[in-house]
Amino acid sequence: MRPALCFVLSELQEGLPVSFSREYAAKDLDLDFVDLKYLGKLTVTGTAEKQSDILHVYGKMTGRTEKTCARCAKETAEPIEKRLDLYLPVQDQNEIDIINELRENLVLDYEGPYTCGGADQEECQRTISRNLAQHSHEIPPKSPFDVLKKLRNIKKENH
Ligand SMILES: [Zn+2]
Repeated sequence: MRPALCFVLSELQEGLPVSFSREYAAKDLDLDFVDLKYLGKLTVTGTAEKQSDILHVYGKMTGRTEKTCARCAKETAEPIEKRLDLYLPVQDQNEIDIINELRENLVLDYEGPYTCGGADQEECQRTISRNLAQHSHEIPPKSPFDVLKKLRNIKKENH
């Protein structure tokens, strides 16, 4: 079954906020990049409020990601928490599914290739040397993220 986050508009009273909470298996949301994976569950909690021709949905999404260092390929897991604040136009429909907006929110937040750097710089370098010795015949993959980055910048400019 495809994941969904539906609100039935006839069940919402105008100006009366209703809270909600949902859990998704991150893998069902199809969010993964080459070097960023969402692990386990993604939890979405928030409030939905109908305001004449707008549905305002706000809250947060929490989960865990695993980033792969672009230099040494070391994987680092970390918790994430992202704010959710959506204004959705309501027309004649009685039901709104915002799962695509959630997914878009997470995907557009992707910051591009990451390096572990900082305190791990030395270890980063050691791992690279080790990997090079092992895989000297491999050509590193070309980054497919430029298009997404552009999209993200356009989105930012529009706000
Ligand atoms: Zn590294």
